[in-house]
Amino acid sequence: MGVRERERQLADVKTHEFKEASVRAISDPQLQAALSRAPVSLNQGRLEAIHEITPQRWEGLREQAREIKRHTLDNLDYYLEMAHEKVSQNGGQVHFARDDKEANAIIADLVRSRGVRLVTKGKSMVSEEMGLNHALADIGVEVVETDLGEYIIQLADETPSHIIAPALHKTKQDVSHLFAEKIGRPNLVEIDEMARAARETLREKLLQADMGITGANFVVAETGTLVIVTNEGNGRFCTSVPRIHVALTGMEKLIPSFEDLAIFLRLLPRAATGQRISSYVSFISGPRRSQDEDGPEEFHLVIVDNGRLRLLQDPELRESLYCIRCGACLNICPIYRKVGGHAYGWVYPGPIGAVISPVLVGLERAKDLPYASSLCGACREVCPVKINIPHMLLTLRTRLMEGTATQYRKVTLWEKLLAWSYYRLMRSPATLSLVHKIGRLMQMPLARGGRIRKVPIPPFSRWTRDRDLPALPARSFRQIWEEELSKEE
Ligand code: SF4
Repeated sequence: MGVRERERQLADVKTHEFKEASVRAISDPQLQAALSRAPVSLNQGRLEAIHEITPQRWEGLREQAREIKRHTLDNLDYYLEMAHEKVSQNGGQVHFARDDKEANAIIADLVRSRGVRLVTKGKSMVSEEMGLNHALADIGVEVVETDLGEYIIQLADETPSHIIAPALHKTKQDVSHLFAEKIGRPNLVEIDEMARAARETLREKLLQADMGITGANFVVAETGTLVIVTNEGNGRFCTSVPRIHVALTGMEKLIPSFEDLAIFLRLLPRAATGQRISSYVSFISGPRRSQDEDGPEEFHLVIVDNGRLRLLQDPELRESLYCIRCGACLNICPIYRKVGGHAYGWVYPGPIGAVISPVLVGLERAKDLPYASSLCGACREVCPVKINIPHMLLTLRTRLMEGTATQYRKVTLWEKLLAWSYYRLMRSPATLSLVHKIGRLMQMPLARGGRIRKVPIPPFSRWTRDRDLPALPARSFRQIWEEELSKEE
């Protein structure tokens, strides 16, 4: 990878602009309309699917999945070796890439040595990490995204805004304009018409491509089988029509056996979209055999580290590698639901992005992300592998405040004094009650309808710069509690 590509990759990382990007996102009515619909309906689908399978059964599956992930990561070297051996026995080639640079170089070598001119791609978050499309364009290769959402954002020259719904931020009208401008298909009104137009354009590319590149939802170590879960047929085209298939995967996608896979195949579609099973579940074990009618002549599996070993070696954050990229934590997160995916500034948005991006791109470049959370715990509640995201966000906040993230400032004396005063206040009911009374008096000229829109004095003025401050209620919680108790007596 050249210097130009590296510079562009770093320029593409905008995690340090979270605050500014959030303010822009909140003031974008179109984005707000999209965010008020799609995540809510995905979340509703998840709830209905859990209800159908029963919450008890769901809990059991979550526990099993967690245990499988824990076991696999504890023995990752063993399963990596097993997968390597099995894929090789199946006629495929395994490549290990330490980082995005190495992964891009591996693919560039394959492309050059095999004279590839056109690549069709299935959905792959790892390829987004690598900036693969740009890297291939730099060496004169045409890359076409074939997942509909990815195709739309490729036409718009944007990045995905959701893990499973990359174009979630786009309206029907946006896509209609895009298709008219970029692929010469004007006046499309209905989603079906747009899907048909995309299909017709993509079908041609899918049939001409020399190489198909996909991600992988799971890699089953015992057989060396790649598992791809999708709702569109593009994945099967990319893996079976071109003469070369390259699969990109993070090392955390390994699971030991098909028995384990059965657990994840029940969890993933339900958590992601509320489906019992996705429309296509493809199992790929190597290239075409002599008796096969179709399939690629070559199969390559590129297993990418790109910071994952750092996560693996970090006892506090290791659990983030359990993630199966279902997107459920995004759909429930009150922050994601207001600011959308682009505000997070890199490939992985939402609560899980706020944990893994700081490690993968550097805490220094993503210092606001661990604070992009109300710590309500909803992400942990919905996660099909019960990842304790709030705990990891607190860990990252602690590291930032303790200065373990190199150039970050230490906690000031003033902040320590504030924390100590708060601690003392919360331990003294009489003082707390007095402070409440004073606060209620002071807020009288500012409070309207239970909210304070603007406080003129710091530090509260900073809070009301971007949002309202809830006014102190007329009665404290303690008063309400005592009144309720006396009613019962
Ligand atoms: S952290 Fe959990 S809920 Fe969020 S994407 Fe990963 S698996 Fe899904």
